Amino acid sequence: MTTLSRLEDRPALLPWMDAHGRAHTYLRVSLTDRCNFRCVYCMPPEGIPWREREEILTFEEIERAVRLFVRGGVRKVRLTGGEPTVRRGLTELIGRLSAIEGVEQLWMTTNGTTLRHHAAAYRKAGLTGLNVSLDSLRRDRFIELTRRDGLETVLEGIEAALAAGFAPLKLNVVVMAGVNEDELQDFVRFVADRPIQARFIEFMPFQGNGWSKGGLYPMAKMLEDLAPLEVRPVGQEPTAVGKDYEALGGRSKLAFVASMTRSFCSGCNRIRLTADGQVKSCLFLKADGNLRDAMRSGAGDDELASVVRHSLAGKWAAHPPMEDLLTRNDLSMVEIGG
Ligand code: SAM
Ligand code: SF4
Repeated sequence: MTTLSRLEDRPALLPWMDAHGRAHTYLRVSLTDRCNFRCVYCMPPEGIPWREREEILTFEEIERAVRLFVRGGVRKVRLTGGEPTVRRGLTELIGRLSAIEGVEQLWMTTNGTTLRHHAAAYRKAGLTGLNVSLDSLRRDRFIELTRRDGLETVLEGIEAALAAGFAPLKLNVVVMAGVNEDELQDFVRFVADRPIQARFIEFMPFQGNGWSKGGLYPMAKMLEDLAPLEVRPVGQEPTAVGKDYEALGGRSKLAFVASMTRSFCSGCNRIRLTADGQVKSCLFLKADGNLRDAMRSGAGDDELASVVRHSLAGKWAAHPPMEDLLTRNDLSMVEIGG
């Protein structure tokens, strides 16, 4: 008699479906809560108490978790943090995860500080795509925003990433009213005629990040500002997270991530694993379930799967209005993993 008790024998029976009929095919894995920057919109000014090393998932645990998620239908994995590149042995981990059958895309979001030295190695190890965060092209402002003097390093990193074959490269720009909204046109020119997509992200509220409604610079305003550069939509998918646009007659590729003003919850396919093993079904929901604890107490894959299913069962159809979000979130962005 064939046994069906092993999870890997019956992957088709385990899609990560939530109560609203959304299949979850995209996993975001935070590798660490540590970071070498202190971005004002992400980390409280005083920093956060780092988790102890033994609290963080080991490479073996991350690999096991990713295999589990892949069996339930995940096809795209993104490494994030904190700053994922401060995790020692990252290149080895990329190699291990990219070798997992079923991981069709392995992406990473980084502040770009290590790329000038390591972009080629990440690529060789199997990383398929990169998002680099950069919120200002002006040195003084970059220092104010990240509380570090790293603009040149990040710009060199972007060049190294392009040279290593990461194209199109995605450039994440968090746009804040009264802070950097006057640089939108500069970014459009920066990416012109290059294999880079500028992604303008609305400022979101998290614990201790000083968010206020006045600091939000909505997508509608960004579009108005970019009208002189002939901004126009391309191939619109209503549920896509990033709304794709172009400008300068198609020379600049853009996207708007309007989490606050144009919710994309109905098409959400994302699930998150925090650095200490918590499963988060939504960026704005408290974590529900911990794979690390389950793994360390000897749980089998079926039990791990129940932890994930339990978390998905609690996922809401859509997040509430922005004013209500702050009161509901228990972690700063750096702890969740962006
Ligand atoms: N350290 C890496 C980096 O900065 O790219 C990865 C982690 S970071 C938390 C992931 C992404 O979230 C970055 O692009 C960052 O700009 C974005 N982010 C952080 N805080 C945000 C906020 N309050 N609103 C919108 N985006 C935010
Ligand atoms: Fe660090 Fe990224 Fe947060 Fe900036 S956005 S503090 S680089 S984790």
